[in-house]
Amino acid sequence: MKRKIAVIGLGSTGSMALWHLSRTPGVEAIGVEQFGLGHGYGAYTGESRLFRMAYHEGATFVPLLRRARELWLQLGAASGRQLLHNFGVISTGRESEEPFQRLLRSVDEYELPHERLSVTELRNRYPGMDSRDDEAGVLDLQGGALRPELAVLSAIEQARRNGALIRDHMQITSIRDTGSGVIVSANGEEIAVDQVIVTTGAWSAELIPQLRDLLEVRKLVLTWFLATRPVEFLPERMPCFIRDRDGFHVFGAPSVDGYSVKIAGLDLWGGPSAPRVEDSDLRLDRQEVSEFGRRVHDLFPGVSPEPNRYSVHYDTYTSNKNPIIDRVGNVVVLTGGSGHAFKLSPAYAELAASLARGLDNPLYSDSFSLASHEPVGVGMRS
Ligand SMILES: Cc1cc2nc3c(=O)[nH]c(=O)nc-3n(C[C@H](O)[C@H](O)[C@H](O)COP(=O)(O)OP(=O)(O)OC[C@H]3O[C@@H](n4cnc5c(N)ncnc54)[C@H](O)[C@@H]3O)c2cc1C
Repeated sequence: MKRKIAVIGLGSTGSMALWHLSRTPGVEAIGVEQFGLGHGYGAYTGESRLFRMAYHEGATFVPLLRRARELWLQLGAASGRQLLHNFGVISTGRESEEPFQRLLRSVDEYELPHERLSVTELRNRYPGMDSRDDEAGVLDLQGGALRPELAVLSAIEQARRNGALIRDHMQITSIRDTGSGVIVSANGEEIAVDQVIVTTGAWSAELIPQLRDLLEVRKLVLTWFLATRPVEFLPERMPCFIRDRDGFHVFGAPSVDGYSVKIAGLDLWGGPSAPRVEDSDLRLDRQEVSEFGRRVHDLFPGVSPEPNRYSVHYDTYTSNKNPIIDRVGNVVVLTGGSGHAFKLSPAYAELAASLARGLDNPLYSDSFSLASHEPVGVGMRS
């Protein structure tokens, strides 16, 4: 008899978990989503997500990134869509600073395809960035941009093709582990399964209150600028980028429409203004938006200083920015994307599926376990 495994929450990690389970022999995969499929309230919306192999967050992620890259290419091939655009990612900063050094360690330790660029090379290649004398760059040749909304829908679509049962507009309100299985409930309806994988992102603590102290939901803002010199921001002249300068951190991607450029990083400390993120007020302080625009224009003079578009999103952070991927009884939890999980989501999903099936996975790190996570301190920020 097939083992029934349900995935609760079909956003970034959940759609990938469902796709993975739907390809696993002996498993009957069921996916449940509280909103419509590919909705706009999750942590995955906003046109693009950076994919990087050279990882300033730490070299320990590199084997998982390799696996994630393979899976992105597989999902792209299965769905007949380009989900990962191999633009490359240029990271710039002062060479002496710690994030830059961590980046160099990850490319050296794992012999990642990359180029190191001096400021002269940066200026010649990327006129869109006004590079400063003390800046240097590392071009991650395997990096690029993912199309997140399309990726989530593609994974769900592939899972359905492989036979997964999918329920949308179904908000799970309780999960009960009976010891021999799990019963998940929504509006009086119950679904009985053998194991469950909970991938509910910013809603995780609602469903599993024990996670409340370990997670913090944070607001993240994306901004777009009109290009006054559009040619400097086309993919032929500009890869994806990350710039760190005097504590100012921005990231972005080349123009997809030929006239506007995503350059983001407006740092607004805070969580949702309503108990549920989809009910939150998405307006921003206009002065803060304009001030951010001025600083962006200083580093990228070929864009107009006022952002012409922005969007507000929420992600779930842990104290050390490692995800929580662990199993308690028949319940596996995968959450705490901490602002950097999209690129890794197919690999994280595979780890969660291994846990659900009681299998070891050599890419699993104990640092993902519940026991390795501290409560998020009040006012935690980094
Ligand atoms: C603005 C922004 C920029 C980012 N940039 C990058 C980047 O460049 N690169 C990168 O790798 N990462 C990036 N990240 C991080 C990454 O996007 C997130 O870490 C990741 O999307 C989190 O995925 P998730 O599956 O935890 O949550 P989500 O994708 O939000 O999925 C959660 C899903 O669960 C559903 N759900 C919740 N509760 C229930 C319930 N009770 N019943 C049924 N369904 C439920 C929700 O509706 C939702 O669909 C960024 C994040 C943001 C917000």
